[in-house]
Amino acid sequence: MVIIDPEQLQQWSLLAVDELTDQQVLDSIAKVTQAHNVLAGVQARLLAGMENRGLAGELGATSTAGWLADSGRVDPAAAKRQVAVARSLGTLPVMAAALRQGEISAVHAEAIVAAISALQRACPAADVGAAEQQLVEVALAGTPAAVRETGRDLVLSHAPEREPVAEDPELNRLDYGTGRDGRGKLRADLDKLTFEKLRSVLEPLAAPRPGPDGEPDPRSASQRRADALSDLLDAQLSGRGGGGVGRAQVMLVAEAKDLVGKATFVDEAGRVKDTRWPFHLSWTGSVSRQVAQMLACDCEVTVVVVDGNRVPLDVGRSERLVTPAIRKALIVRDDGCAVPGCGRPPHWCDAHHVREWIDGGETKLDNMVLLCRAHHRMIHRGTWQVFLGEDGHPWFIPPKTLDPDRKPIPAHNRRRRPAAA
Ligand SMILES: [Zn+2]
Ligand SMILES: [Zn+2]
Repeated sequence: MVIIDPEQLQQWSLLAVDELTDQQVLDSIAKVTQAHNVLAGVQARLLAGMENRGLAGELGATSTAGWLADSGRVDPAAAKRQVAVARSLGTLPVMAAALRQGEISAVHAEAIVAAISALQRACPAADVGAAEQQLVEVALAGTPAAVRETGRDLVLSHAPEREPVAEDPELNRLDYGTGRDGRGKLRADLDKLTFEKLRSVLEPLAAPRPGPDGEPDPRSASQRRADALSDLLDAQLSGRGGGGVGRAQVMLVAEAKDLVGKATFVDEAGRVKDTRWPFHLSWTGSVSRQVAQMLACDCEVTVVVVDGNRVPLDVGRSERLVTPAIRKALIVRDDGCAVPGCGRPPHWCDAHHVREWIDGGETKLDNMVLLCRAHHRMIHRGTWQVFLGEDGHPWFIPPKTLDPDRKPIPAHNRRRRPAAA
């Protein structure tokens, strides 16, 4: 039976903060936080006991989480997260011990449990013990957000060939309509790269603007973002929008050795090497290697390639980005997206380096092919392959699942001509 001394509780509830010294305030916050964490651990063990005994069912509730939400007046989603932690205490002993000692909070524990289950879904063979150890270390030193970031990096590192849901543009939605009050309402669900572009454009425009006498900007962050959107639309409508707004820039910093080849990012112990996945965008964080390579290929995004000491290598953007002359030649040769069956028009297309630029592939006609954004992603995912044939045109090799012989197929605009591979 958990004994909570009623007198002690009474004492705490009557605590006169004004009578404490600064140091006492700080010390008390630390102690109460620890006690809070310890109690969260106790609650998790009690919930686990409830689960094991099937008490929720006996009480007529659909689940322990349902019972907790109902009787404890907890948000259903929060109740589910608490029960998930309770269920994981047995399989995640390092996390359980840290929670028992009050060294991590319930929110840290929830982030660790969510990260481990995402890792197991992405890579069932992953070493859960090593991942747990690393996540707890991050939790001991940092915020729950840092734990979530490390969790995403673990998934990217263990399953680099898998496209994270966060990067899938096919799930994107943007809905707007008029609300009952007559105002415009927007709701968006965007992939990481699109969201990164949005934030890179809006954030500089949404910076606080001090008043004439230096008084702070009275607008909330939300108001400033809405004003920034209005400014952006003005710029677009007045024709000033084309050349980029302000100092907006989407930037990816990456080491050359990480961009090439098939380097693994997990060490023998199953941890993310260097404690950090190597590909990050400024606003939205880690992206997969496929997206990093695609950005390094031909995009509006600045990719700064650095050496091991994060010093930019002396290779200019001009060498990577396709020149107007090469783009014209590509349009003449490919007409549009060259993937068989596609043919989307040239202004929707990236110029893809067949041999990666970072791997020594040159930016010239016989190393390039026009691909729409969707097929550019597909080629970087590696399911289909592309090469330049003897005829000087791109040819595509389908995956084994589509054609066991992997017979090359001519480019979209060459399909009706006799095969000459
Ligand atoms: Zn490419
Ligand atoms: Zn295409």
